[in-house]
Amino acid sequence: MTNNKIWLSSPHMGGNEQNYINEAFNTNWVAPLGPHVNGFEKDLENYLGENVQVAALSSGTAALHLALVILGVTRGDEVICQSMTFSASANPIVYQGATPVFIDSEPETWNMCPNHLEEAIKDRISKGKKPKAIIAVHLYGMPFKVDEITAVAKKYEIPLVEDSAESLGSTYQGKHCGTFGDISILSFNGNKIITTSGGGALVTRQSSVKEKAIFLATQARDKAPHYQHSQIGYNYRLSNICAGIGRGQMEVLDKHIVLRRKMHQFYTTLFQNWDGISVFTEASEVVFSNHWLSCIIVDERVSGFSSEKLRLHLEKDNIESRPLWKPMHLQPIFKDAPYYGSTISENLFKNGLCLPSGSNLKEAERQRITLKISELL
Ligand SMILES: *Cc1c(COP(=O)(O)O)cnc(C)c1O
Repeated sequence: MTNNKIWLSSPHMGGNEQNYINEAFNTNWVAPLGPHVNGFEKDLENYLGENVQVAALSSGTAALHLALVILGVTRGDEVICQSMTFSASANPIVYQGATPVFIDSEPETWNMCPNHLEEAIKDRISKGKKPKAIIAVHLYGMPFKVDEITAVAKKYEIPLVEDSAESLGSTYQGKHCGTFGDISILSFNGNKIITTSGGGALVTRQSSVKEKAIFLATQARDKAPHYQHSQIGYNYRLSNICAGIGRGQMEVLDKHIVLRRKMHQFYTTLFQNWDGISVFTEASEVVFSNHWLSCIIVDERVSGFSSEKLRLHLEKDNIESRPLWKPMHLQPIFKDAPYYGSTISENLFKNGLCLPSGSNLKEAERQRITLKISELL
């Protein structure tokens, strides 16, 4: 008999989600609009602070796509993007017919290196094209170097799109991730720190941008009694049912962050006396990670085994783990895209592993993980 699967990150309901869904059914708000959509947006606005405005959308990818549409990214443009990330950060660049320009990570936060960012901007400008936007990502909940990245973006007057899909609840100098971009995005996919089964949001400080996002997300309908369109629209709004789940999840978000961080502490303790394994941790006091996923780097020369060996070993006991994001400049689909940097992200990918991190993991599951990993000693 095999043990139950231990997932990397699985949905964790707080209990009230079902009540919100029932309310939607009882009032027949079964549509991509309704009181829960507005309520969820308010909940997020209150949580993030900084006077932001939130438009709830059908996915984080949709939010990124609309961010680029609103920033005027179009055919032939270039958009800078962190190389080490999930493909959803980069795909919307191609939806717009633009070209991604990828940037390596720096070793401290694993996110966009500000030096290579500036190098890339200078070089693209010298080649005749100023990049239209910069997409930076807070991977695994770890805030990127916000001061350094925004300084470069400001210096060259290029709008910053902040991909906060993995970092709801993380902070930088006490301010929430998701409030640092000219436009920021969130994701509520099934494996994220909170989920609406599928969903996302666009975050802005300008009410005109929020209105624009909602307009585009609801098929860009002009003000007229008939259906009239002077712009291409999208069907990207969040449903009232999913928003109901989101409202329930917002009630437990902070609790879930505490539990994710406990999982991170669990791995820190587990590996503290293991040479050759380091747990990915905040490098300074000014950052606070939600530790969406706990990640390690395995130095095979010291540990005696590779991250892949550890992954396969865990799999034997039905424990899910996963290599870190494979950098975009190494992806077959983006092999021709310009890239600026060295081998930081490549080496992270080679030696890194994400471990089960769910806020719903139980003591017995942690013991199973400890036991299985200890077998490799
Ligand atoms: C999940 C994720 C997205 C996309 O969000 P969806 O809601 O799944 O479309 C974008 N960027 C990053 C970094 C992500 O992890």
